[in-house]
Amino acid sequence: MTAKNVPVDLRSRLKEAATRRGAAAFGVASVDAADSLPRVKIGFTVNRWTEPIRKGMPAARSAIVFGVPSADDADELEVHRSSGAISYPGYLPLSIISRDIISILRNDGWLAGYPSELVHLKSLAMLAGLGSYGKNSLMISEKHGPWLRFGAVVTDAPMPPDRPLERDLCGRCTRCVRACPAGALEKPYLVDPDRCLVGAGELDNPPKALRPLLAKHEPKLSPRTRVMCTECQMACPYTPTERKRNVFSL
Ligand code: SF4
Ligand code: SF4
Repeated sequence: MTAKNVPVDLRSRLKEAATRRGAAAFGVASVDAADSLPRVKIGFTVNRWTEPIRKGMPAARSAIVFGVPSADDADELEVHRSSGAISYPGYLPLSIISRDIISILRNDGWLAGYPSELVHLKSLAMLAGLGSYGKNSLMISEKHGPWLRFGAVVTDAPMPPDRPLERDLCGRCTRCVRACPAGALEKPYLVDPDRCLVGAGELDNPPKALRPLLAKHEPKLSPRTRVMCTECQMACPYTPTERKRNVFSL
């Protein structure tokens, strides 16, 4: 292998590494396609926008995308550390998979790294064919509904991209729009980041008007630990029954 020839088994080795650590979905997106998408506003009341992959890695050509299912509400815990950092213990498998994939790619002589936190992972998952974009602004998979959590690794290895799904899995359904207690899905397919309770709950001092909604839909398990709102996901007809009952097994 020269440094610029992609070995034919690279994709299967990366997929195998991801699957071994719990990934239920795996695909490849083209960085050209990802960086051509419109930018999206993210973050509660702050002016943060998604960024292109090549801002962080100018030579990037492919994004390896993988999804791990949220098994139950324990995977939706958000922990506010005393340092001010916020962590998501249920998402740890994503970091481990990223680390393994980066290691394989670097050992093969490729550039590989984590995308910036401002890269829009849901768009990458859509481009990699892992689901269709839902009216709740999450990726919907026929098997896992809106419960896949995504990670990605970007690399200069030129890998053939997967094809996005051509079907819109939502069709005429509007269950999530009606289920959202905060009215954050009034423009279907585009969550309003200034209304969604998940963003509000990240603040030390959420707006007073939202506190009753947060108390009801984002219960605190301890002063620093809360369960993120999942109302729009629980309402989705693609949600597996086991996930609704919090008894999903991986
Ligand atoms: S997470 Fe909760 S507040 Fe945010 S869009 Fe879904 S239902 Fe609405
Ligand atoms: S609840 Fe219905 S409209 Fe919303 S994401 Fe699921 S299928 Fe789509």
